Amino acid sequence: MGKVTGFLEFKRDKQPYRPVEERVHDWKQVMLPWPADGLRKQGARCMDCGIPFCHQGCPLGNLIPDWNDLVYRDRWREAIDRLHATNNFPEFTGTLCPAPCEGSCVLGINDDPVTIKGIEISIIDRAFAEGWVGPEPPATRTGKTVAVVGSGPAGLAAAQQLGRAGHQVTVFERADRIGGLLRYGIPEFKMEKRVLDRRLAQMEAEGVRFVVNTHVGMDRPVEALRREFDALVLCGGACAPRDLPIPGRDLDGVHFAMDYLTQQNRRCEGDAVPDETFVTAQGKRVVIIGGGDTGADCLGTVHRQGALEVHQLEILPRPPDQRAEDNPWPQWPNIYRVSSAHAEGGERVYSVSTLRFVSDEHGRVKGLEIARVEPVREGGRLTFREVPDSASTLPCELVLLAMGFVGPERPGLLEQLGVALTERGNVKRDPNWMTSVPGVFTAGDMQRGQSLIVWAIAEGRSAARAVDRFLMGRSDLPRSGVRSWLTTGLFRKNQRTRSLYEKWAGPIASFSTSMSRIALPLMVRPGGSLRSQATSQTRLPSLERVARVVTAAPVRRRKTISYSTPASFRTSRGW
Ligand SMILES: Cc1cc2nc3c(=O)[nH]c(=O)nc-3n(C[C@H](O)[C@H](O)[C@H](O)COP(=O)(O)OP(=O)(O)OC[C@H]3O[C@@H](n4cnc5c(N)ncnc54)[C@H](O)[C@@H]3O)c2cc1C
Ligand code: SF4
Repeated sequence: MGKVTGFLEFKRDKQPYRPVEERVHDWKQVMLPWPADGLRKQGARCMDCGIPFCHQGCPLGNLIPDWNDLVYRDRWREAIDRLHATNNFPEFTGTLCPAPCEGSCVLGINDDPVTIKGIEISIIDRAFAEGWVGPEPPATRTGKTVAVVGSGPAGLAAAQQLGRAGHQVTVFERADRIGGLLRYGIPEFKMEKRVLDRRLAQMEAEGVRFVVNTHVGMDRPVEALRREFDALVLCGGACAPRDLPIPGRDLDGVHFAMDYLTQQNRRCEGDAVPDETFVTAQGKRVVIIGGGDTGADCLGTVHRQGALEVHQLEILPRPPDQRAEDNPWPQWPNIYRVSSAHAEGGERVYSVSTLRFVSDEHGRVKGLEIARVEPVREGGRLTFREVPDSASTLPCELVLLAMGFVGPERPGLLEQLGVALTERGNVKRDPNWMTSVPGVFTAGDMQRGQSLIVWAIAEGRSAARAVDRFLMGRSDLPRSGVRSWLTTGLFRKNQRTRSLYEKWAGPIASFSTSMSRIALPLMVRPGGSLRSQATSQTRLPSLERVARVVTAAPVRRRKTISYSTPASFRTSRGW
């Protein structure tokens, strides 16, 4: 919980960044490390709220108050153990996650939330610097083999978990390097690729095999993989881009965002992308269509390439500065945000639609005809109506289409396998993460649609557990996350938590607010699941030694359960 009065004494600090005038001239990461002392104060702001809604906000179910407290107490080694217990790659999320946890931080109801993401990245940075992160190969091998298709965060998380469970895992990637969107989508200035390479080295040392330049379903038949491996996990992402089929779409100078970002990322990797094929914004007026994160990544790239001017267009109205009434805490706040790329310049234009691309005499784009629009609800669906006489032309020489993605690519892998798809075109799965084809599992954007890294990691972990159970009949691997129904509505007060817990599991010997943090993840895992929670925490020191909370389970699942918290943790609270 940090310091009892910490949230009253200390204000939230801002994430440190390199100065704009310096960073736009290079590709190095813009985020700076936090000063250790300042960070301890930030950890001290975590206020022992009793029901930490941040657990529910984080798709991984990260044990946030625990590591906030440990950072405040300068116990970094334990903090990284606690962080790694739920997150394979905190360096990715600590750098790139939009931090939905902070949107549901209880302190955020009437103050600025705790800087959870800043604390997360500092813990893992410190752990790497101290040499605390090394390979963790399994003690024994099961003799089972698993193929993971796709090497984004979902595939990597699934592969690492399955490898640690003793299976021989091979990750197939169609690109020439491992990493998925972490490699060729997300720009170097947001996260330097050395961060990714460092983690891949750990995985290789643990025995995970990486096979690049292999497009499964194109240059390697899926059937061959099914014969060679005991299980398949599809983590191919959702990278089919949304197009804009309006007049002039085929003009020179109109490109999909991902094609553009990939080229620059390749150059940052040191690849020779010839000038004739390289799309650059240098000396050009640029329009980015799409106001989301991909658009913001294009914006930062355009600045660094030396664009003359940039407009970023968004069809939706400008979000409010504060939460709207229909967007209360602990929901993700849909508010106006200024990303690091936005802080570097460019103009954001809201409530506009694109009518056509305007051509010059050589078939190159020279402008964009746009019109103002206003949102209207038609039969419950949101559509946009053009404001009469509002059309105008925006001159430009480069247009980047960053309007999101329509789902996973179907030719090859998915068509050959014949997996069922959802109405939205994503891969359909059952509660055990299996697709309609037995022995073939899925995780990440491929089944969720384009989303976030934190979801990809969480789902990769959960799918790994399902695959492990499929192969071995049981699994000690943990699932991810805390089900939201536990923390929304049902568990408003500690006392209520206690009585609900007792209803579920019988009388409990002792109870404290910290206990409720532990109890929540326990409660979502009825039956044999307590074991899995303990497994997710096995790195905690002294797990077996301490405060036993012995309960008798209800008739439905009659058995005695016990759970221990680390001695050091207990002592720090005077239990
Ligand atoms: C430009 C951009 C910026 C983003 N920035 C952020 C951010 O800052 N923070 C955040 O949280 N999220 C961000 N996202 C979203 C995030 O990157 C994704 O949600 C996440 O990477 C999904 O992970 P994944 O493992 O499911 O898929 P991906 O990362 O998409 O990886 C899928 C991989 O599978 C490979 N593949 C596909 N089919 C095959 C096949 N048949 N054979 C072999 N390989 C195959 C692909 O080549 C790819 O490498 C961003 C997305 C984009 C496009
Ligand atoms: S992974 Fe994201 S949501 Fe989870 S604790 Fe870290 S910043 Fe918050």
